[in-house]
Amino acid sequence: MNKKYKAIFFDWDGTAVMSRKAPVTDAVAAMKPLLEKGVKLAIVSGTTYENIAGGAIENYFTPKQLDNLYLGLGRGAYNYEFKEGKPYVFSHMIPEKELLGIIHRICFEIHLELKLKYDFDTDIVFSRPNYCKIDLMVDNNRGDNLFMQENELDMLKEKLKAHGIEGGLQALMDLSIEIAKKYDVEVAPTCDAKYLEVGISSKSNNANTIFAKLCEENPELEAKDCSFWGDEYVGIEDGIFGSDSFMYTEVTKKGDFFDVSNVTGERPEKVKVLGGGVDTFLKFLAEQ
Ligand SMILES: [Mg+2]
Repeated sequence: MNKKYKAIFFDWDGTAVMSRKAPVTDAVAAMKPLLEKGVKLAIVSGTTYENIAGGAIENYFTPKQLDNLYLGLGRGAYNYEFKEGKPYVFSHMIPEKELLGIIHRICFEIHLELKLKYDFDTDIVFSRPNYCKIDLMVDNNRGDNLFMQENELDMLKEKLKAHGIEGGLQALMDLSIEIAKKYDVEVAPTCDAKYLEVGISSKSNNANTIFAKLCEENPELEAKDCSFWGDEYVGIEDGIFGSDSFMYTEVTKKGDFFDVSNVTGERPEKVKVLGGGVDTFLKFLAEQ
C-alpha cells in the first residue's frame, strides 16, 4: 500500500494480536517506529485497559512514543491519551449508576423473553462499564481466541431458526431497542455471531471522539488521512454489520476502511477486504 496515513485506527483482538494471551511483541515492534515518527495510532477495542497488553501497554513505549498513542475502549466507554507516559481518560461515556441499572434490566428482559418465549438460552456478562454482553451461543466457547470464527455465523443462524426466532439477528436487535424504549433509553445494540451487546455507546463514539481530539491537536487532519482496521466488519445479515463497522461514521466516512478477516459475508460498501488476519495488519504498519 503506497498511501501513508497520518492516523491509523485499529481493533486489537484479532487485528493486532491473535488473542489476549498471545505475545504483543510483534504488534509493539510494528507500532514503535510509527509512533516515534509522529503517526497517530488509536487502538479501538471493545475490551478494557486491563485486557490490552496485560494492562500495561505504556511499558512497551517511551513517553515520547506514547504522546502519539490513543485508546478507545469499552465499546465507546473510555478514551485514553497518555500524559508523561501514564494513561489518562480524556473523555468517557460512563452512565450514572441508575442508567447502568436500567441497561442491566433491559438485558435481563431480553434474556427472559428469549428463554420464556423461545426456550433460547443466553448468558449475560454484566461487568462491563456501560453495556452488557449477551452470549447467544452458550455452548460454543471461543477459548482464548476472541474473534469471530468462520463457521459461527451459520451455527447461530441455524440455532435461531431451530428455536423459532424469525427475522434472525435483526429480530434480536429490534427486541433490544423495543425493550429499551419502555425505559426511555436509546440503546446502540451490536452483534457478532456469539454476542449481542446492548449499551449506550459503540465504537462510533470512540472513533469520533479520538478523531476530534486528533483534529484539535492538528487542525489540518482530515478523515481521508486516516485508515480504520478491524476483523469484524462482517454482519450477520443484510444491513447489520459487525462491531468494527461502527468506526465508519458521518465524521470518519472519508477515511479508508480495511478488513483483515477472511469471513465471507456482507460488509459496509466502503470496506476493503484484505483478509490475512493479524499478519496483514502488521505488515501494513511495517510498510507505513
Ligand atoms: Mg477483533
